[in-house]
Amino acid sequence: MMNQEQAMKFKKLFEDQKSALLYSYKFMNEDFNLSSDEMSDEIDLSSAELEQNMKMRLRNREALFLKKIDEALEKIQAGTFGVCDCCDQNIEQSRLEVRPTANLCLSCKEEEEMRETRSADGRKSKSIGIRASLRIA
Ligand SMILES: [Zn+2]
Repeated sequence: MMNQEQAMKFKKLFEDQKSALLYSYKFMNEDFNLSSDEMSDEIDLSSAELEQNMKMRLRNREALFLKKIDEALEKIQAGTFGVCDCCDQNIEQSRLEVRPTANLCLSCKEEEEMRETRSADGRKSKSIGIRASLRIA
């Protein structure tokens, strides 16, 4: 468990990040409405669509980040912030400084990444094979 002072520091950080995100949300939505009004020209449609896609993707990523911030704030509220979801050990302070929304400790995260790498091994070895044969050619 981290002390109250540390928890409050992270709470402030998350609240700042959250309000910055919500502000950019609002800003993007206004911009978004504006461009849909201007979509009368067919030539502009594809670029407008592209822009729309890009914004949607960006918004999805921000929505995910926002969700993580909310989860972290809930944890601070509940007094479980900084505790690994997997092994219930404290997450390294240095890790939280770099990645405040981390929900796994370093060793659990490494284990998770190793599992992901192993499950992607089939695809990976195939692409390495292609690269190797290209190098020979
Ligand atoms: Zn852990």
